[in-house]
Amino acid sequence: MSLIVHKYGGTSVGSVERIKAVAEKIVAKHRAGDKIVVAVSAMSGETNRLIGLAKAIHEEPNLREMDVLVSTGEQVTIALLCMALEAAGVSARSYTGSQVRILTDDAHGKARIKEIDSHRIHSDLDAGRVVVVAGFQGADDAGNITTLGRGGSDTTAVALAAALKADECQIYTDVDGVYTTDPRVVADARRLDKITFEEMLEMASQGSKILQIRSVEFAGKYNVPLRVMSSFEDGPGTLISLEDDDQMEKPVVSGIAFNRDEAKLTIRGIPDQPGVAYKVLGAISEANIEIDVIVQNVAKDNSATITFTVHRNDLARASKLLEQIAADLGAEEVASDDRIVKVSIVGVGMRSHAGVAATMFEALAAEGINIQLITTSEIKITVVIEERYLELAVRSLHSAFGLEQ
Ligand code: ADP
Ligand code: ASP
Ligand code: MG
Repeated sequence: MSLIVHKYGGTSVGSVERIKAVAEKIVAKHRAGDKIVVAVSAMSGETNRLIGLAKAIHEEPNLREMDVLVSTGEQVTIALLCMALEAAGVSARSYTGSQVRILTDDAHGKARIKEIDSHRIHSDLDAGRVVVVAGFQGADDAGNITTLGRGGSDTTAVALAAALKADECQIYTDVDGVYTTDPRVVADARRLDKITFEEMLEMASQGSKILQIRSVEFAGKYNVPLRVMSSFEDGPGTLISLEDDDQMEKPVVSGIAFNRDEAKLTIRGIPDQPGVAYKVLGAISEANIEIDVIVQNVAKDNSATITFTVHRNDLARASKLLEQIAADLGAEEVASDDRIVKVSIVGVGMRSHAGVAATMFEALAAEGINIQLITTSEIKITVVIEERYLELAVRSLHSAFGLEQ
């Protein structure tokens, strides 16, 4: 008898019909003998709708209340799914995050899971019930409701699987696995049978929203076998696996990720001296603004330029701060640009292959796409380019590295 954690995302529970279909799927697996714990998201569009309501009342809503609000989406789907399971003759019980208890820190809107109490879940499973847990939420030490950040139900599922020592965590979604790139952008993207944790981590951190990055971190840390599969049709999906698998083919590039959520800031004409980068970037970090790509160059006249990227939501705040810093340092100019995107190629095979960057830059040059910034890690190369070239860049890189079906 296996213990499997299932996770169903927003589209998979987006209507009453879809919820019934998901219930049928769970019933079939339950009858076949699996013990099943399910994590569900809110119905598709619901979390955005709730955020919209809050923003209509206050530009920067209180974070604690925001979590009380947005966590309601998942409370609806756990109840409806349990009703559908009961209607199909299977005993089921729903729990919110705080009922389970999924204990988190108190960072509202981006809380981290610290501990999961698995007592109630185990006793329900032993009684033959299916357990349905609200994704995306938990509670802090004081019992305040917290949420885990957008896409956080993935992390709930993996954390449950780790706590329950499940045999597998299956992420059911609206695509039938992890593809070489977002199939909405490249029609002939190919489903991968397997991808390593390391690669999946880079793909997620570079913008692939198929899995929340923390869910992949969790799965890697606690060795949870993780599979992405379709809630609409049967199939093997994609297994996120450990690299030491010798059977595994190691293509140079496994996938292409992109991120439309970033913006670029530049400060020009600052002194090329120790401590200047700290003055500029330290102040931004202290304001709790996450900095991603950073590039510094020094001109012939010994003045320096620092360029970096931040989340688009933070651009206004970061710009304001940078203006102040520029005044303090006597900088020449501050510029900002929110019409940029980040495109990354990812693959463990890059470690042992030279010339990957050249192939990437050649493909972009052939399309007349200007590269604004470049950063690399051992298994990834990222470029920042103009937003309007995003689709063209992803498609041309996809074919340059032979990733199509
Ligand atoms: P869910 O609501 O089930 O959590 P998401 O919308 O969060 O689903 O994630 C699934 C979507 O991720 C797909 O519809 C697809 O457009 C997108 N996606 C981005 N990159 C990839 C990729 N490399 N492989 C598959 N899907 C991807
Ligand atoms: N409903 C939440 C969101 O839209 C969590 C999730 O779907 O994973 O971000
Ligand atoms: Mg998701």
